[in-house]
Amino acid sequence: MARLYESRKRILVTGGAGFVGSHLIDRLLEQGHEVLCVDNLFTGAKRNIEHLHNHSRLEFMRHDVCFPLYVEIDEIYNLACPASPVHYQHDPVQTTKTSVIGAINMLGLAKRVKAKIFQASTSEVYGDPSVHPQPESYWGNVNPIGIRSCYDEGKRCAETLFFDYHRQHKVEIKVARIFNTYGPRMHPADGRVVSNFIVQALKGDPITIYGEGKQTRSFCYVDDLVEGFLRLMDTGPDVTGPINIGNPVEFTMIELAQEVLSLTGSKSELVYLPLPQDDPTQRKPDISKAKQFLNNWEPNVPLREGLKHTIDYFRNVR
Ligand code: NAD
Ligand code: UDP
Ligand code: UDP
Repeated sequence: MARLYESRKRILVTGGAGFVGSHLIDRLLEQGHEVLCVDNLFTGAKRNIEHLHNHSRLEFMRHDVCFPLYVEIDEIYNLACPASPVHYQHDPVQTTKTSVIGAINMLGLAKRVKAKIFQASTSEVYGDPSVHPQPESYWGNVNPIGIRSCYDEGKRCAETLFFDYHRQHKVEIKVARIFNTYGPRMHPADGRVVSNFIVQALKGDPITIYGEGKQTRSFCYVDDLVEGFLRLMDTGPDVTGPINIGNPVEFTMIELAQEVLSLTGSKSELVYLPLPQDDPTQRKPDISKAKQFLNNWEPNVPLREGLKHTIDYFRNVR
C-alpha cells in the first residue's frame, strides 16, 4: 500500500471537462492518481466527465484560469482554451486572455508549489506553413492581426511565457504542439471538420467542404494523443519540448469526406462553401522528435478505425 501512495500524484488538469482533457483524466485516474479538474465550462461540459461522477479521486472545480488559483498539487496539465475556430472566434479577447493570463497564473502556481507543468500548445503556432511537414524548428507563418490570431498568437505567447518561466524561475516545463485531433466527446456543434462531416453524414445533410477541399490536415485519434502527453510528462527535466504530437498521415478534406460517407453509408452530397480567412492550406507534423524523446511514440490508430469509434459516439449522442 505504501508504494501505491508514494507514486500517487495530485494532478491538476485545466480544461478537463473538454474533449481532450476528459480523455486525459480517464487515463490519469486509471493510473491511480488524484485529479483536480478545473474548467469554466465555456466549451466543455460536465457530461464529458459524468461517467466519473462520485469517483473518489476526482474533484471538479468551476473556475476560469484567467483568475489566480491557489491549490497544492504535484503536476499541471494546462489545456484550458477553446480549440475550434468557431468557439475561439466567438469571444476572441477572452481567447487571448485565456492563453496568456491563464498561462501566467498556471506558471505562477507551478513556480510556487514546484510542480511540473505541461502546456497544450498547437500546430497553429506554425500558421499557414511554408515548410512542409512542420518540424519544431520552424518558426511559423502567422498573421498577427487576422481572425485566427487570438488563438495562434495567444498560444505563441503562452509558449514564450513557458520558456521564460523555465529560464528565469527554473520551472520544469513540457510543451506539446498538438495537431488536429478527433474522437468521442468532440462537441457536435463545435464546427471542426471531423465532427461537422460526421454529424452531417448521419443526418443526411450536405457535407460542407470549405474552399475546393484540397487543403490537407493530419488527424490524430485522441487515445494516441493522450499517450503522447503522458510520455512527455514522464521525461526527465532536460526535455522541455516543444514537441509535435500528431499523426503524420495527411488527408485532403475531400478524402476525409469520402471516408466519412463510406463508413456511415450516408448519401449526403458534397457542397462547396467559401474558404475561411487565413485557413492553412496544408498541415502535417514531423514527429521525429516525439519518436526520439517519447520512447518511440507514434500514432497507432488509423483514420478509418478512429472514425468508426467517433461515428459510434455521435450516433448515440444525437
Ligand atoms: P475543448 O474546447 O473541448 O476543451 C477546452 C476546455 O477548456 C473546455 O472544457 C473549456 O470549457 C475549457 N476552458 C476554456 N476557457 C477556459 C478558461 N478561461 N478557464 C477554464 N477553462 C476554460 O478543446 P480540446 O479539443 O479538448 O482542446 C484542449 C486543448 O488542446 C486546448 O488548449 C487546445 O488549444 C489544444 N489543442 C487541441 C487540438 C485539437 O485538435 N483538439 C489541436 C491543437 C491544440
Ligand atoms: N498565482 C496563482 N497561484 C499561485 C501562485 C501564483 O494563481 O499559487 C498567480 C498569481 O496571481 C500571479 C501569477 O500567478 O499573478 C504569476 O505568479 P508569479 O509568482 O510568477 O508572479 P507575481 O506574483 O510575482 O506577479
Ligand atoms: N472544414 C471544412 N468543412 C467544415 C469544417 C472545416 O471543409 O465543415 C475545413 C477547414 O476549412 C479547414 C479544415 O477543414 O481547412 C480543418 O478545419 P478545423 O476547423 O477542423 O481545424 P483547423 O482549421 O483548426 O485545422
